[in-house]
Amino acid sequence: MLIVQKYGGSSLATTDRMKFVAEKVVETKRAGHQVVVVVSAMGKTTDNLITLAKEVHPAPPEREMDMLLSTGELVSVALLCMAIENIGEPAEGMTGYFAGIQTDSFHTKARIQKIEPSRIIEELNKGNIVVIAGFQGISPENSITTLGRGGSDLTAIAIAAAIKADMCEIYTDVEGVFTADPHIVPEARLIPEISYDEMLEMASAGAKVMQSRAVEFAKRYNIPFAVKATFGKGGGTMVKEIALKEGAAVSSVSLDEKQVKITIFRVPDRPGIASQIFTALGKENINVDVIVQNVSKESFTDISFTVNISDADKTLKIVKAIAKEIGAQDIICDTDIAKVSIIGIGMMNHPGVAGRMFDALARENINIEMISTSEIKISCVIKKSDGVKALKALHKEFIQ
Ligand code: ADP
Ligand code: ASP
Ligand code: MG
Repeated sequence: MLIVQKYGGSSLATTDRMKFVAEKVVETKRAGHQVVVVVSAMGKTTDNLITLAKEVHPAPPEREMDMLLSTGELVSVALLCMAIENIGEPAEGMTGYFAGIQTDSFHTKARIQKIEPSRIIEELNKGNIVVIAGFQGISPENSITTLGRGGSDLTAIAIAAAIKADMCEIYTDVEGVFTADPHIVPEARLIPEISYDEMLEMASAGAKVMQSRAVEFAKRYNIPFAVKATFGKGGGTMVKEIALKEGAAVSSVSLDEKQVKITIFRVPDRPGIASQIFTALGKENINVDVIVQNVSKESFTDISFTVNISDADKTLKIVKAIAKEIGAQDIICDTDIAKVSIIGIGMMNHPGVAGRMFDALARENINIEMISTSEIKISCVIKKSDGVKALKALHKEFIQ
């Protein structure tokens, strides 16, 4: 079989772990398979590199940021290849560029446009284990790009699609996908299999076990994948296309503490204003999440929305310019928020789920600031300090 295995940062955090991963990879090859490995940067390397960049520039140029961040994964590639060679198997390390990963030019969250995997295939056919740097690609201008935080997941899924792998395994520091983050809710249960749609909603609701863009890609090209523990033997979670079946309304709960809420006060209430704001943000590739517009009073309204904290500065810059143009009064950026969500395909057939959610939060004295819903997800924006309490209360209400 042709197998793609991705190892996350915590699985490679030390050289001892790196050696353990090398043993695992070699074991797979010696069991008669061809193996492509995708690696993340060691431990907290990427966070540390971002801190370094901000020490020399408060808003680092994004092209150079990508150059910097891409180095983390290269360290892992080189060390893992060495560890594999040390066990006696040949390994060929590759940057995103050598692996043929072509992206657009949106530095720090570039999109994969095409993969030209001939080099990977060539090396596999020579009997090598191929080790590829996750999270990076090359732009049409031949600059290094990165694929957004958690982007090694995307590299693995996209490579699996490009080389038509028989199996794609995402190895991480937990046993698989749980009904809630097991590091916050110890009672959370492992989900043996889950649909792309639910996994996608979970990821976009803050369950960082999978990058949402990676799940989106897997869904679009129908690439089933497994999420498993690097240091464990369980079967993990299978993510794939699953037909809707009867069952519980809510299958998981998620917490996202990496959002900020931006409010624009006294926006003139006339057609085209919302479009002006959100089109400008879209052009800069900024993902806007929950949006609320208040009832208009005296031809003015307030608009609030949330974005990822990493986009906060960029968003504020754009919104401030537009606010000036349209004559809005004031802008506030609230960083003291969190988003808590309940997710489940079963929700479509179970009325009253929203009421139960709001009730469970009210019982904990948690105030809801914003609400958004999709067919299979309900999210509430609350105070950050209430986040963990809310997650636990919702897990208890719907899952335990
Ligand atoms: P990696 O470095 O392997 O990519 P990440 O840190 O990106 O790993 O993702 C794994 C983490 O995701 C886990 O340690 C866990 O705390 C978190 N997580 C959040 N929600 C969930 C969930 N529903 N199921 C499993 N893990 C989750
Ligand atoms: N190293 C990158 C990050 O920390 C990519 C990844 O781990 O998937 O976001
Ligand atoms: Mg990750």
